[in-house]
Amino acid sequence: MKLFSLHGQIAMVTGCNKGLGQGIALALAQAGADIVGVSRRPADDTKHQVEALGQRFYTVEAELGQHAPSEIVSQAIVQAGKLDILVNNAGIIRRAPAIEFSEEDWDAVLDVNLKAAFFLAQHVAKHLIERQAPGKIVNIASLLSFQGGIRVPSYTASKSGLLGLTRLLANEWAAHDINVNAIAPGYMATDNTQALRDDPERHDEILGRIPAGRWGTPDDLAGAVIFLCSDAARYVHGHTLAVDGGWLAR
Ligand code: NAP
Repeated sequence: MKLFSLHGQIAMVTGCNKGLGQGIALALAQAGADIVGVSRRPADDTKHQVEALGQRFYTVEAELGQHAPSEIVSQAIVQAGKLDILVNNAGIIRRAPAIEFSEEDWDAVLDVNLKAAFFLAQHVAKHLIERQAPGKIVNIASLLSFQGGIRVPSYTASKSGLLGLTRLLANEWAAHDINVNAIAPGYMATDNTQALRDDPERHDEILGRIPAGRWGTPDDLAGAVIFLCSDAARYVHGHTLAVDGGWLAR
């Protein structure tokens, strides 16, 4: 078996229409996987790019936090025949000081970033265990899985929770040959960080602290996600891999 090949694998990626999710879908397709893209709006650009790489792209349109995860997983399996890989990428952020943070901003973020990720993982794992097939689950965590952050209480709670959940699921499912790991991206130039990049002071402060001297891009995650979804990571369980230009080393 080729260590980093994903040929014959079906990978479901949430939030694949843009940003890091699009980069992840393209990386997995480049390694040979067919993609099930879960997004709440058409992901035509990602579909075209995946197909241009010679792989299939199946679409499940769903609003995470509202559509039942069991339904999303069964729609994916009906179309693609099976699932081998899940990347829980979709995520949102709400910014406000903790002292005035609303319950709505708390629930919205926790529902998508943590609850939907858990229940998608649960249903994909059930499918893998029923098939007695090995599988990979990768959660997209954050630097705020390790650090406190500021003005993003629900985001920090969700991403810190996702790191813990990654370990718990690894403990429960490693024996089923399911590898559960996470990637903690650093500061990446996507819509998620637009507000930070638009604020000249925050922009320079952040950039000045990144040892690599630049914001990350979606293709900076390619190597890490291919690794964690491939046979090369078969004995890697419960790890959260920072891809952060050295931020956490500082
Ligand atoms: P982004 O460009 O804002 O993309 C977020 C993706 O999630 C979009 O596809 C979005 O769809 C989707 N999404 C959000 N809520 C959804 C819902 N309820 N149902 C379905 N899809 C939903 O941000 P990004 O930077 O690529 O973020 C991807 C992941 O990386 C997130 O989990 C984020 O927390 C994490 N992350 C990002 C950074 C960074 O610096 N950018 C750093 C660490 C971690 P729409 O287009 O429809 O909104």
